[in-house]
Amino acid sequence: MAKLYFYYSAMNAGKTTKLLQSSFNYKERNMEALLYTFRFDNRFGAAKICSRIGISSDANTFDNATVLFDNISAKLSKNTSCVLVDEAQFLTKNQVSDLCKVVDNLNIPVLTYGLRSDFLGAPFEGSLYLLLWADELVEIKTVCHCGKKATMNAKFDLNKKIVRAGDQIDIGGNEKYISLCRKHYIEGCIE
Ligand SMILES: [Zn+2]
Repeated sequence: MAKLYFYYSAMNAGKTTKLLQSSFNYKERNMEALLYTFRFDNRFGAAKICSRIGISSDANTFDNATVLFDNISAKLSKNTSCVLVDEAQFLTKNQVSDLCKVVDNLNIPVLTYGLRSDFLGAPFEGSLYLLLWADELVEIKTVCHCGKKATMNAKFDLNKKIVRAGDQIDIGGNEKYISLCRKHYIEGCIE
């Protein structure tokens, strides 16, 4: 039985590295993984998934208008063994529903990787429905500067002051974001 997985964490915990490792493991066994990432993220050029430790892979893209069930169905081959989705926090509710259909109707496992909460501590639409609907929730852990588990994402400005307002989506590189434990997130203590 195929399942829908949500691998979630704060920023810079190595989600993308885990995704690319999974893709590699499938390839090694002559099985194919369909990779997807959000189109808005063009930090490394279009249609590429890049991890911070230097490995990368070509990928399909989705944006808010992509009908994922149709898009995935059209790309399936007999070797397709799973679907891997990076930046899964940017999925819409309908797209999470589509991924459920890929699992339930096509019997293909879907592994999604994303942030649990935004820099205001609020949910992303994609992560919210993945947390509610996925078969398996897997936390990828990372640490705050104090050594405790980091669960929150803080955004900070040039003066190293934590930012408490603004748009949810503003991908400008990892230097503006840091993952913190809840105590230090609430205190605004980024170092
Ligand atoms: Zn801390």
